[in-house]
Amino acid sequence: MSRRPAVLPADAAIRRLRAPLVRWYRRHRRDLPWRRTTDPYAIWVSESMLQQTQVATVVPYYRRFLELFPTLEALAAAAEDEVLAAWSGLGYYRRARALREGARMVVERHGGRVPRDPETLRTLPGVGRYTAGAIASLAFGAEEPVVDGNVRRVLSRLFALEPRGAAGDERLWSIAGALARGSAPGDLNQALMELGATVCTSRSPSCAACPVARDCAARASGDPDRWPAPKSPKPATSARLALAVVVRRGAVLLERRSPGAPLRGEWDLPAALIADGLRAAATLEAALAARLGVRVALGPLAATSRHAILDRRFVLEAHAARSVSGRPAAGRGRFVPLGALDRVPVSSATTKILRALGLTAAPTAASTSLRPAPGGPRRR
Ligand code: SF4
Repeated sequence: MSRRPAVLPADAAIRRLRAPLVRWYRRHRRDLPWRRTTDPYAIWVSESMLQQTQVATVVPYYRRFLELFPTLEALAAAAEDEVLAAWSGLGYYRRARALREGARMVVERHGGRVPRDPETLRTLPGVGRYTAGAIASLAFGAEEPVVDGNVRRVLSRLFALEPRGAAGDERLWSIAGALARGSAPGDLNQALMELGATVCTSRSPSCAACPVARDCAARASGDPDRWPAPKSPKPATSARLALAVVVRRGAVLLERRSPGAPLRGEWDLPAALIADGLRAAATLEAALAARLGVRVALGPLAATSRHAILDRRFVLEAHAARSVSGRPAAGRGRFVPLGALDRVPVSSATTKILRALGLTAAPTAASTSLRPAPGGPRRR
């Protein structure tokens, strides 16, 4: 149980926000598929997908995932590769692995019923304080708070707070907890998140359309987007990442992700970071021989792209193989038919390069700056 911070806005000031927020949410909410259900499993799926991913991207994945795995038992019984394939394109595959592992735990330890209690929910893999609060309140109507980035911004502005460090976070959770107490806690939580996503946006909040503008300290100040102060970003690092495009008999060589690998797919084009002064092709050839037992002779630069993962900026440099011999080490690498690439969980970096070279039509998750070099490989 968390300690209640010493200085909080008055309970009455917090609680008079409830009714206008809930009323506004019921009238203005976006019609999203996970808002049509109180099935805790479906809500868990949606919350897992929505971490780090935008709503518009998640909607088709959510629908397809529930078609493939309509129940918690179906997900628990599925092979990991099937689940990762259904997640293919969403990225951050550890979310999919945690979800499947969590489903198995619920079947084994909780008789197939998603726990109602947030403390028990938080024992499941990938379920933190936010996700536990979301499942408990949205599926079970528990008076549990949620604080995500949107809620953090809305509460900071409403009370002109600058939430710094752990104590600042705890203060927000306490205010959210006071708000969640009462009827329809799920709608109240969704109202805060929806307000942050659509009205109280980080830049230029639309205070004229806000149901709680009258009680908002930031709006009264005349400078609402002053709160919360932006976090100072970590300085970005940049690196060159060379990728090998090895195509044999209509199939491309992919390597299974290993701990610490820079790309985030479960399977990706074999890649190597290139230190200053090193030749990309030679470094990649040595890496493929050592890691996969495959001997390749790589050609010149075939395509480039830029790619960012959190605070790391990569320049991707793709080299196509002129010749290849040997079989990839079992479990570490495999040749995947080009026509089956959309069923393999690869990172958007791999997809960008394969698209640039005309090897896949799969859409990329992010915008790209591609420069196919002349003479690159084509589908064979
Ligand atoms: Fe955000 Fe403006 Fe509403 Fe305050 S009044 S919560 S700043 S949209």
